[in-house]
Order: sequence, then structure tokens, then C-alpha cells
Amino acid sequence: MYSNSLIELDRAHLIHPVASYRSHEKHGVRVLTSAKGATVTDASGKQLIDGFAGLWCVNAGYGHDSIVEAAARQMRELPYATAYFGLGSEPAIRLASELADRAPGDLNHVYFTLGGSDAVDSTVRFIRYYWNARGRPERDQFISVEQGYHGSSTVGAGLTALPAFHAGFGLPFDWQHKIPSHYAYRNPVGDSPQAIIEASLTALKSKIEAIGPDRVAAFYVEPIQGSGGVLVPPKGWLRAMREFCREHDILFVADEVITGFGRTGPLFACSEEEVVPDLMTTAKGLTSGYVPMGAVFMADHVYETIADGAGATAIGHGFTYSAHPVSAAVGLEVLKLYENGLLDNGVKAGKRLMQGLESLRDHPLVGDVRGRGMLAAIELVVDKVNRTPLPASAEPARRIFDRAWENGLVIRAFANGVLGYAPPLCCTETEIDAIVDRTRLTLDETLEDPDVRRALRT
Ligand code: PLP
Repeated sequence: MYSNSLIELDRAHLIHPVASYRSHEKHGVRVLTSAKGATVTDASGKQLIDGFAGLWCVNAGYGHDSIVEAAARQMRELPYATAYFGLGSEPAIRLASELADRAPGDLNHVYFTLGGSDAVDSTVRFIRYYWNARGRPERDQFISVEQGYHGSSTVGAGLTALPAFHAGFGLPFDWQHKIPSHYAYRNPVGDSPQAIIEASLTALKSKIEAIGPDRVAAFYVEPIQGSGGVLVPPKGWLRAMREFCREHDILFVADEVITGFGRTGPLFACSEEEVVPDLMTTAKGLTSGYVPMGAVFMADHVYETIADGAGATAIGHGFTYSAHPVSAAVGLEVLKLYENGLLDNGVKAGKRLMQGLESLRDHPLVGDVRGRGMLAAIELVVDKVNRTPLPASAEPARRIFDRAWENGLVIRAFANGVLGYAPPLCCTETEIDAIVDRTRLTLDETLEDPDVRRALRT
């Protein structure tokens, strides 16, 4: 059968990202064949609501003919143009300009990449260059946040603070440091916003002192931590961290690879607290996942320092596919869709999603519900008082994902029993309600899991 032979070919040849190769070989691939709106169809014809927009990226939803036409038109006219040698293409120039118009503050300069990881990697290169240009080469230490995710390049994976990205890879580098996350549900200082903000500021201050006050180049944050389990900082946290970095002459980098392009409501989550970072990374929703692209946004002062520092010398950073015209044409079309109703729909759908997920708090397994806009999570526990996570033996990532799949819902099930939601912004009310209903059904079934029942009794 079509799909059985694909399973065999996949097992034999395709290496999957962030997977146990052995357990993938055992369980086999699930093949998706088509998609429309917020619905994906697998090789058996089963239809599911994609509650995770692929990998938090298909913000516009699937099957937009206008995006397909924009890509096809560009491929016919000019499928490739290098941005090296002083060359360029109209869509890339226009997209950079449209994005600069909408970006927070003076983030007026845009460097296009192929995705989020090389956007993060690019920031590290630019930041080193910046400090060298300022005559401060000793500012070569980088700080990020526990539970943070900043991609899978060697450098970005070191800024990432998730164990699977370090173990066996010899990471992080000794110039990459972390401070504890704001993670309100499991924060030793409790869940008071003020206490959490104070604790983060104190941690950053002591980290800087420990490293050496004139050594820190930059501090990286996600406005909402995504892959760490959708951890939403208290209101004011982002702004407080930004101001602290400004006072200490440390570059502040906002990684908006997930939060950008309407995921939390506006085009950029930073603007919700009127935060203007020195550099900002984006990807995913930039092209809504239709083709690969990422972007680094640079504030005027960073750009000017780098440009002046280099003078007539070439700044040796670039990719063959930097500023790819087809990706840029898609980006321009997607931007139009966001502004012609998608962002507004996302805000409405996001409110309904949060209300719906909040209604699950009465379920015996739901310990926490959190999120903003169309980015949310519920955290499952077997004991609400002690906040005891689901036992590893219950294999939350596999079993809950499988149950939800059977119930017609794609979600992200993290290994620690956190369920992540990032549906396309085009979701209807009916689809949002179905996401919530199918989650409840999945949780009811999880209550019957022998490993969960055993843990609930103890
Ligand atoms: N930064 C953040 C915050 C991310 O969530 C991701 C991916 O999920 C990345 C960077 C890396 O992006 P990519 O997977 O496109 O390389």
C-alpha cells in the first residue's frame, strides 16, 4: 500500500528532527497528504484539526491560493537572485521595507535568513562584530534563559536551555550562560508577578557580576518561551529586562521566531509592552511556513556601528539563499493576509481558545492553563496541590499525542506532560471549540492510562 511503502522508505532513509531514531523506527512515520484552512489530512484519509499550525508556523492556515500564486509568479519571473555582489530582487527589497515600517521602534534594517536557527546564529555573529567595532572585543559572553529555545545550530543550541540539545553535543560553550526562567507555575519565589520580575533582575545582575561586568555582549529572551512549554512571563517582565540591559550597555535580543506574526495578537509580541530590542529574530509566520525564511531585525545604532566598523571591508556573513525572492514574494502576500483580517481573527479566536482551555481547569489532570492569543498550553499533573508532573512511564509525549490524533486533533505533547497549542489564526469558532472538546476527551482517556491511574492513587 502507498502509505506502508512510504513508512518503510521513511524508516530506511529519512532522518527526523528532534526524535529518538530508534523509537521512530519502531513506531513509523505518519504521512500527511493535504491540508486546507486549519485541517490536515493523513494518508488514510483521516482529517484532523491542526492545533499546532505545523510547528507553530502555518499562521495563515493551509491552502491559500494567493500565496501559491505569489510563489509561482515569482518562480516564473525570477526564481533566484543572489543578494551578493550588490544585486537584489524587488520582493526582497519591498519585504524588508514593509517589515521595517511595522517593526517596533528603529528596527529598520532586515537581514533575511532561511529560518529561525540561522537567524539566531546570525545575531551572534553580528553582535560579536558590533562589539569589536566598538573596540570592546572582551564583550564576548552571552546570556539566555533556562527553558529557552533559540534553535538548533551549534551556537543557537548552546543558547537554548533544553537538555536534549546539549547532551552528547558538547554544549553549551563556556561563553554561553543562563539565568532561571520566570516559569510562574514552578517558580521557587511563587507566582507573584513582582516577585518573579525581581528574581529575574537579581539573577541577571548576579550573572553579570559573576561573568565580569564588562564581559557581557547580549541577553536573549523569547517574549513567551515556546519550546520550554509555553511559559508566559508576567506583564512588565519583558520591559524590565529590556531596561536593565539598556542601563548596563548589554544588547537585548528578542527571539520572536514563534511569537512574531500574530501568534500572540499583534505582528510582534514586543510591541505589547512597547519594548524595542536591539536585535529581533523572526521566521515561521513570516512566510506562514509555505517556504523557508527567517529575518534578523537590527536597530539603527547596531547597523551603523557595524557598518562604520567595517568601512569599505566586506562583512563576511551571508548565505546563498539570503533574501530569496520566492520566499520574499510569499512573505509579502502573507503580510497582506495578516492585515486583511487574519490578525483580527486570531485575536478573536485566541480569546475563545483561552476561555475554552480555562474551562478545562476542573479536569483532575489539569494543573495550569496559560497562554496569550493563539499560543497556549495546559500543564498536566497527577496531584494539583503538590503540582506533581505526570510520571515518565506514562510517556506523555507519545501516548497523549496518539490519543489526541485518534480524536482528530494535532497538538504538541511535551515529555513533561505539557500540551502546547498554536492553531492557525484562521480558525473558526467551531474549530476552536472542537480543539477544546477533543482535548477534554483526550484527557478523560489519559485518566484511564494505567500508569497515570497508578500515579494518581499514590
Ligand atoms: N527561536 C525560537 C524561539 C524558536 O522557537 C525556534 C524554532 O522553533 C527557533 C529559534 C529556530 O527556528 P528554526 O526551527 O526555523 O530553525
